[in-house]
Amino acid sequence: MSPPPQHQTVKYSLTRLADVSAGSMPQAKVAGGIEYTVICRRCNGSFKVMNYEGQYLSGFGARKKATAPQPIGVVCDCGLDHKNRPAGSAGCGAVWDIVH
Ligand SMILES: [Zn+2]
Ligand SMILES: [Zn+2]
Repeated sequence: MSPPPQHQTVKYSLTRLADVSAGSMPQAKVAGGIEYTVICRRCNGSFKVMNYEGQYLSGFGARKKATAPQPIGVVCDCGLDHKNRPAGSAGCGAVWDIVH
């Protein structure tokens, strides 16, 4: 195993990154959904994203097809230092979607 990549203290900048496939990510089933361990490709920060399954459950006796899973919007939430970061944000400004 190689050591985890070092966090990069790049300046905060709102940046859209390419989508990531859910199947390629470390994930764990937790109460109410799935928790993904995410690594930001801009700053290498690591954090967890919770995806609640509730919206996909079909009602008792429902015949219609379950709704296709929606992309999960991710905003970098590394919690580490980035210059020029606006208040209320905890990451480097990278945003992307986890797609199924
Ligand atoms: Zn970061
Ligand atoms: Zn980041």
